[in-house]
Amino acid sequence: MPRILDGKTVRDQIKAELKPRVAAFRESTGRAPGLVVVLVGNDPASEVYVASKTATADELGIYNETLTYPATTTTDELLAVIARLNERPEVDGILVQLPLPAHVDSQRVLLAVLPEKDVDGFHPCNIGAMVTGRPAPKPCTPAGIIELLKYYQIPVEGKHAVVVGRSDIVGKPMAALLLQQNATVTICHSKTRNLAEICRTADILVGAIGRPAFLKAEHIQPGAVVIDVGVNRVDDYGLAETIFPPERLANFAKKGYLLTGDVNPADIEKLASAYTPVPGGVGPLTIAMLMFNTVGAAERRIAQA
Ligand code: NDP
Repeated sequence: MPRILDGKTVRDQIKAELKPRVAAFRESTGRAPGLVVVLVGNDPASEVYVASKTATADELGIYNETLTYPATTTTDELLAVIARLNERPEVDGILVQLPLPAHVDSQRVLLAVLPEKDVDGFHPCNIGAMVTGRPAPKPCTPAGIIELLKYYQIPVEGKHAVVVGRSDIVGKPMAALLLQQNATVTICHSKTRNLAEICRTADILVGAIGRPAFLKAEHIQPGAVVIDVGVNRVDDYGLAETIFPPERLANFAKKGYLLTGDVNPADIEKLASAYTPVPGGVGPLTIAMLMFNTVGAAERRIAQA
């Protein structure tokens, strides 16, 4: 039986380590670390994510505000919002909830956030700092995966890690962080030839594609550690039947959909030595790392003041 790498346990440890840091920050500065979330429009998924983020901030004693703007807000109006938040001394972290409405220039808005307040770790300055090993906020999902690998003492040094997916928020930073841990890293994407052959050489296989159960037995080396970043909603019962065992299909009738990762769960069970389940693996880590970045940003800003 493969080992299950449970993200909730790691999330709880990250949060437990943050609590005394928040208390110490409050003690030395007389205020809590501060996070402001900027939410534009009424995307229901974004509203759910923001509610989870603010609930976690509350739980940890991190001061937080959510600024909500209508979907008609312009790029210039958002740039003015960011400029004001950059100026506010008690705001340590600014998070612009993505996606922004299509008419907004997301790149310009994200670039306007001061790098030291960019708790998503998306600013090119912070990406540069990450790649060159300097202290800075790192993109939350891949940084959480590194914490998970450390927690479960999964050896990374000298291992061949294959990252499937090259997005700016998951695949590329994941590859950079694994490289920093001395893995030998291969990045694959939609134009990669012989994907299965390359994946089968992975000691650590990271699926970050966004396609339900796309990576299968032919992609998994027996004994590999499989990190499944994908979160895919399967609402076609026919497709669900090809992915899930009968006991999980029972839930389909209740919810009308099931969540699956990018790697076929039955094939993981058969072949992997350890894996992150979906849900409950990588997902819980992202918000915990956002809080980690917020507290780190607050500490660095005070240290540099
Ligand atoms: P993107 O859509 O931005 O990137 C997907 C990547 O997968 C691209 O680089 C793309 O290649 C590659 N890809 C697509 N199809 C194939 C294929 N057939 N073969 C090989 N590579 C392929 O997705 P994200 O990185 O934002 O997210 C990936 C997944 O992770 C999604 O399911 C998302 O929901 C999930 N996610 C989960 C998080 C969590 O907290 N658990 C957080 C963030 C994301 P190319 O560049 O060539 O187009």
